[in-house]
Amino acid sequence: MQQETFFFQAETKQLLNLMINSVYSNRDIFLRELISNASDALDKRRLEIAAAPDLAEGLSEPCIRISRAESEGRKTLVLSDNGIGMNQDELKSYIGTIAKSGAREYLAAIEQKGESLQAEALIGQFGVGFYSAFMVADRVDVVTKRLGEQEAWRFSSTGDGAYTVERTEREEPGTTVLLYLKTPDVTRGEKDYSEEWTLREIVKKYSDFITYPILMEVVRKKDDKDETSDERLNSGKAIWRRPEKDVSEEEYAEFYKHSSRDWNDPLTRLVFSVEGGTEFRGLLFVPSKAPFDLMFAPRREGVSLYIRNVFIMNDCKELIPSWLRFLRGVVDSEDLPLNISRELLQEDPLLRVIRKSVVRRVLNALKKMLNESREKYENFWREFGQVIKEGLVSLDGREEENREAILDICLFHTTAGDTMSTLKEYVDALPEGQEHIYYLTGRNLSVLRGSPLLERCADAGYSVLLMADPVDEVAAPTFTEYSGKHFRSLEREDALPKKDDGASSSEVTEGVISFFKEVLGDTVKDVRISERLTTSPACLVSPDDGGSFAMEQILRSMGQEVPSVKRILEINPHHKVIRSLEQRLSKGEGKESLGEYVFLLYDQCLLAEGGRVEDPALFARRVTAILAESLKDEDGTEER
Ligand code: ADP
Repeated sequence: MQQETFFFQAETKQLLNLMINSVYSNRDIFLRELISNASDALDKRRLEIAAAPDLAEGLSEPCIRISRAESEGRKTLVLSDNGIGMNQDELKSYIGTIAKSGAREYLAAIEQKGESLQAEALIGQFGVGFYSAFMVADRVDVVTKRLGEQEAWRFSSTGDGAYTVERTEREEPGTTVLLYLKTPDVTRGEKDYSEEWTLREIVKKYSDFITYPILMEVVRKKDDKDETSDERLNSGKAIWRRPEKDVSEEEYAEFYKHSSRDWNDPLTRLVFSVEGGTEFRGLLFVPSKAPFDLMFAPRREGVSLYIRNVFIMNDCKELIPSWLRFLRGVVDSEDLPLNISRELLQEDPLLRVIRKSVVRRVLNALKKMLNESREKYENFWREFGQVIKEGLVSLDGREEENREAILDICLFHTTAGDTMSTLKEYVDALPEGQEHIYYLTGRNLSVLRGSPLLERCADAGYSVLLMADPVDEVAAPTFTEYSGKHFRSLEREDALPKKDDGASSSEVTEGVISFFKEVLGDTVKDVRISERLTTSPACLVSPDDGGSFAMEQILRSMGQEVPSVKRILEINPHHKVIRSLEQRLSKGEGKESLGEYVFLLYDQCLLAEGGRVEDPALFARRVTAILAESLKDEDGTEER
């Protein structure tokens, strides 16, 4: 077959450029990335052979091999594995494209902000470790043969936008990456990656825990003669099987980076070993930053399942519930059978026991962090609080038992101040006279803080939970009580107790109410006197039997057809605007001159809660008409 030339996808090209030109990056990590890929490929080989043992025929022991040579007068570094390999399609789709959704938008945002990201950040966000090879090499060849297939392929690129693919030969399945090293600029402290000691040091530092042997051919003088031999560079000890006191912070951090593809250090880790009955070990990490696509991308890395030190699968969903999907690391079981499949896992009672125990441990660890390192916990909560709250709406009955524990570690903004509170802190600080936990949900905090629905609570000195995450719309209605206090949504018609002075309703004649009803017609479900407003003229609330307004908005923004729930307009009988309307109505004015004011009040209620008016142009015309009128007024050309 002829050599064919292909072009990198636009995003790939852009990423490559960003990576090659990133100034601050630690270039050593290219080796970590290539070794990680090789180790993953060996895991896949093992899994495939477990399913089809015939494939093992003729294969040598799994290993990763590093060698150095000169080729075409250039120093090269060669990294070879006998893992799963790639066929032509895989080669093109894995290496030539970035599959991550949202990559284009994310890159555009970086470009617009003029940000320069470190290569590590790019690798972490996009899972593009392979490209880091171009930081140290100006040409990269990949020779690869897929396990179970006959043909081998050579990929070659200088990282400038195109690559070639052609047929080649390779004896054993696996992948060889050949790096034509750039000449290091020693004056700038650049390393020579063909140096034995440099490579040794990097492998030890970043990849010591890789379970497959990483071998390097070394030359030693013996009796004045050069002798070559393979030397193993890594100890290969599973880090989660070592006592915590024997593992350095750095080793944990490197393992985290390897297993999570994150370039930041983890926020915290959790190490456990459970014996007696079901035996398992775990090493879990909470990342310090949420990946940009945490809320919408399919799960990828997650927590890997090992059985007796043998890798079984990435992101074991049966082990970690979706609301803890930000966790990274490993759980290693002593008791599960090695040949277990995903389907069987779902039903496995042993795995359920492990899952339950892992979830409990994680919740305890988070609670400990909350109690002992508040600032750290608040950082955690900002990154992952939304995901944790999904646990409250999880449909999985098995998790119901965790509800209390999850509520205990939730943080909320409140009207009582700028800091976030736990429910316990909030309840403990409730002012005298406040019987319930009041809350308000909406799309962002500043809109919530300014909501007219808070006015009476503010007047009474009550404190209200403000919830602005999308998940709150579904989570909050599941809240019933905490510490003996009931939850009440301020968006609901009967949220607040009736005032018993009886004054409010008598102050507005039925006439105003029916006038509003007449003008608004079907737009609202009802018009009522409000007991919650003090400074605003009107607000909208949801009937007790309907969905929430913000929820409706969220579903709409996701493109879903939702019936719009008619809401109740509440008016403030004490407000000047309402009183003036009343007076003018009593003088015999009607829809013609006053109707516009009613529409404006209604639209203004929508805007105040961060919603949209149905017809913005019409709204603008109405405002303009009033401005014109009132400026004329100021001018003194007409009587006040
Ligand atoms: P990541 O490893 O984070 O997915 P990379 O850019 O490093 O991203 O690699 C892209 C894909 O290419 C891998 O997911 C894997 O499928 C394939 N790949 C890379 N290196 C190898 C290898 N040595 N053997 C087999 N497949 C590989």
